[in-house]
Parts: sequence; structure tokens; C-alpha cells
Amino acid sequence: MGKSSKDKRDLYYRKAKEEGWRARSAFKLLQLNEQFELFKGVKRVVDLCAAPGSWSQVLSREIFKDENNSDAKIVAVDLQPMSPIDHVTTLQADITHPKTLEKILDIFEGGKADFVCSDGAPDVTGLHDLDEYIQAQLILSALQLATCVLKEGGAFVAKIFRGRDIDLLYSQLGLLFDKVICAKPRSSRGTSLESFIVCLGYKPRAGWNPKLNPNLSTEEFFQEMKIGRPELHDDLSFDAEERKVAPFIACGDLATSYDSDATYTLEKDLQRTSLDPVQMPTAPPYKKALELKRKGELKIIK
Ligand code: SAM
Repeated sequence: MGKSSKDKRDLYYRKAKEEGWRARSAFKLLQLNEQFELFKGVKRVVDLCAAPGSWSQVLSREIFKDENNSDAKIVAVDLQPMSPIDHVTTLQADITHPKTLEKILDIFEGGKADFVCSDGAPDVTGLHDLDEYIQAQLILSALQLATCVLKEGGAFVAKIFRGRDIDLLYSQLGLLFDKVICAKPRSSRGTSLESFIVCLGYKPRAGWNPKLNPNLSTEEFFQEMKIGRPELHDDLSFDAEERKVAPFIACGDLATSYDSDATYTLEKDLQRTSLDPVQMPTAPPYKKALELKRKGELKIIK
């Protein structure tokens, strides 16, 4: 948003700039942590789909404020490049690629993670069914990676959009974690289907040693551990898994937190003070166009 245009975004957008967070999403993780104490005793964290990095900023600040955590490790992964953040190792990589898991495990020197989070959102194509499918695949990829890197008892948090088949995901998660809750932080717009699945107490399935295999689709990966697939027996009977509904919790102080659908009000003297971005974009899509324009080489094709 240019400085001359009216800044009518919501209160969390403004507050993020005031407090130095790279994105308003920081408040979502802060509010989820307030509710579920996600960072308690946590030393190794993987932040998936992390750019521009506000969740990593939160993780870095909250985990390293405890002096006993000076040896903690945070790995942030995104397709986009990220500007450095204190105590965070950034990887420009695709979370759906098996090599990414290898790199994370190298950074952890073989140790397992206490917490994996994913705020992933693919670029939308505008084709609704395709967008829904890609989003579902991204969540499965994050979960797949989490099952390979999480230690027993660890936690997983991922952004979801409560669509048609979400109860299937709840059932799958229920087989892998002690508790599965669907949480909506106050800072997540009430008008959006966005929520966060909070999975506590990872319990790896007995006898199953999850490994990423580039030749297996995410469906095949989870099928191997017989999750969410009805089994057909010789007598043609099914033992289909019961679909579950995860409890839904709204979090963040509901009495005093801002309403995320409200734009912030004008200051008393009706003047708006424009705030600079906390972090300038690293690789904005318009960068190449600007370079070409400067050189006089930008052609507009009609
Ligand atoms: N949590 C971030 C923060 O607080 O700054 C915001 C994340 S943003 C909503 C979603 C991110 O998902 C984008 O930066 C996008 O590049 C990333 N993403 C989408 N698909 C990905 C993939 N396959 N691998 C890695 N990152 C991906």
C-alpha cells in the first residue's frame, strides 16, 4: 500500500507495524500460544512456510527469552527468500520436497523437533476446486514432514480452511496425536474460513517408521500407515474409521483483543501517520518489471 493511499487495513495490521512484526500473522501464533502454551519446554522448532517471518520472530523472541534455551534451534522454511532473524536458520526450499526434510534433520544434527508449525498458503489460481486441493496437499505435506521430524509428545500446528472434507483430516490427526483442537485466534478474520489445527502429544504409530520417499504421493504415504482409509476384508466387510469432529476453540482475549474485521479508527486530529514496512520485500514480483522500466526495456503487450 503506497504512502499516499488511505491506510484502512485492520487494527492488527497497524499494531504489527508498531511492534516490529513482519506480518500481522504474528498475533495468531501469539494468541495460539496464550491458549495452548505451545512453547513451554520447546528447544527445536520447524517453522514451515515461514516467509516473511513473523512466526519465526515470535518463536525467536519467546523461546530465547529463557536463558536455559541458549542452545535452542529454530529452522524456518519457505519457497521465498527471507531476511535474517536472530537465532533462526532460514532455508529457501519447498516443504513438499524430501531433500528439505534431510536439510532440517542435518541442522538438528539428528535430534527430533519439539514443535512443528505451518502457516502455509499456496498462490491461488482462482479455480476454487484446484485451490482447495492444493491447500489440502500442502497441509498433508506439512503433516508428513512433521511425522518424520517430531519427537514423541511433540506438537504440530497448521493453518487449515474448514472446507468440505475437514473431518477426514481431524480423524487422521486423531490417530497421530493425543489431542486435536481446531482453534480460531481473535486476530484471524472472522469472515475467513481460516483456522488452525492444534495437535498436541505426538504418538508415532507402533512399528511405523515414517520416511519421505519422492516416489510416494502424500496419500500413499499415509495409506502405508493405514490412516483414514477403510479396510476391505475377505468377507467383504469394511472397518471404516469413524469421522471425528475436533472441538472448536476461539482464542486470544475475547473481551479486550481487537476485532480483526474492523479497520482502525482515525487519530483524534484526523491525521494518519503512515508507518514504513518492518521488512522490505526480498523478492517482490514487480522487481523485474521495475528494472526493465528503468532501462526503458519494458514492453506493454496489448
Ligand atoms: N507465517 C508467515 C509469517 O508469519 O510471516 C506467513 C506465511 S504466508 C501466509 C504463506 C507462505 O507459504 C508464503 O510465504 C509461501 O511462499 C509459503 N509456501 C507456499 N507453498 C510452499 C511450499 N510448497 N514450500 C514452502 N513454502 C511454501
